[in-house]
Amino acid sequence: MPVKQDVEIAVVGAGVTGLAMALAAARHGAEVALLAAGPLPATPRPSGRAAAADGRTAALLMPAIGLLTRLGVFDPTGLGAEPLYRLRIVGGGTGGPEGTALTFDAAELGMDAFGWNVPNATLASSLAAAVGRTADITVHAGAPLQNVTETPDRLLLEAGDTRLAARLVIGADGRASVVRETAGIATTERDHGQTAIVCRFAHTKPHRNVSTELHRKGGPFTMVPLPGRNSSLVWVDRTAESEARLDLDDDAFREAMAPLAEPWLGAIGALSKRHAFPIRARLAKSLTAPRRGLVGEAAHVMSPLGAQGLNLSLRDVATLAELLATRPGDPGDPALLAAYAEARATDVKARFWGIDTLNRLVLASPPPFRLASSLALGLLDRLPPARRALMQGMMEAVPGGL
Ligand SMILES: Cc1cc2nc3c(=O)[nH]c(=O)nc-3n(C[C@H](O)[C@H](O)[C@H](O)COP(=O)(O)OP(=O)(O)OC[C@H]3O[C@@H](n4cnc5c(N)ncnc54)[C@H](O)[C@@H]3O)c2cc1C
Repeated sequence: MPVKQDVEIAVVGAGVTGLAMALAAARHGAEVALLAAGPLPATPRPSGRAAAADGRTAALLMPAIGLLTRLGVFDPTGLGAEPLYRLRIVGGGTGGPEGTALTFDAAELGMDAFGWNVPNATLASSLAAAVGRTADITVHAGAPLQNVTETPDRLLLEAGDTRLAARLVIGADGRASVVRETAGIATTERDHGQTAIVCRFAHTKPHRNVSTELHRKGGPFTMVPLPGRNSSLVWVDRTAESEARLDLDDDAFREAMAPLAEPWLGAIGALSKRHAFPIRARLAKSLTAPRRGLVGEAAHVMSPLGAQGLNLSLRDVATLAELLATRPGDPGDPALLAAYAEARATDVKARFWGIDTLNRLVLASPPPFRLASSLALGLLDRLPPARRALMQGMMEAVPGGL
């Protein structure tokens, strides 16, 4: 028998963004249906299989952590998260300590930490558990959204045997979003031929809660603290180089990492499985269509350079949830959707094109440019107002109110 439901809001996609969106909307009293292509993530186990499933972690800045706290899912121990006290950016040479390093300290902004490094898999599991405890959210799991039909005051969704009528459909269904495509929203694509390798590794020196980003031709090599003497690695390089490294056995991969990682973190110990993420940035030309709003990677996919993606997605979630709370009535109201698009446009475009430009410069620059960029980093280090502006740019607040 087909499942039929008529709801105010349907959230499509149960990644971190969709789960957070469903929870945030329900917190404001909306009746929500969450459509998941597969089963929801299982109970969190920070050092177990759940944490290993995706391999990625996200460096989430304090505004994003604030949202997760308000949603009741920020438990650092349960998540296997680690605070980030300092950010170190290294330019020049191989990126070893002989290069120019610029270090930002959270204390300079009067904060204990910039944010936390959170495994995506445990975060998704914790959000899914919270969704399961929320009476106002009905989960329809097991079949992807296939079709969307417009009626004057509803959208009709088809997913397997499920038929949903919703006044607002929120597309959180990732880079190949069916919500976006069925609305006819075009995208801009940027592919610079890079692939990120992601894994965790143990090391002999303490990381002292410093996240270290080595700017190298081909892309950044970033080590982000995890609990104990462990870090997550995001190594972005040209796809051919990354593919060759994916084929190495663990000892050979450790050897390839050693000149970059060991100066900062000592000898490299156990390595987790390596995961590859081809980097193909994509930006939706509109964040809304009639009775539809896009959040997360359905709206914008960007390079991990600068650790912006999920931070940006959680700002989408907070903004849309707040608009839904402050404008009761039809959640698919065109004025509400226009306010969402307007509130998010500058942030989304500025991050997307800013990161793309930075990425292109890193890829295109012959050694003299990299030298110049290293010198610029060194100069910035001595200019407190510029440092402050850079740091404050990273700490832009998530609209609150949840
Ligand atoms: C290597 C790497 C490192 C990163 N590091 C950081 C970082 O440090 N900080 C940061 O902020 N960001 C980071 N990011 C970005 C971050 O990981 C992503 O932005 C985030 O995981 C995307 O979440 P999402 O929920 O929007 O999309 P997804 O995780 O893609 O979720 C989409 C969901 O929709 C579902 N779906 C798809 N189609 C359908 C359909 N038709 N019907 C129903 N469901 C559907 C999928 O099954 C999936 O569950 C990084 C990204 C990469 C690649």
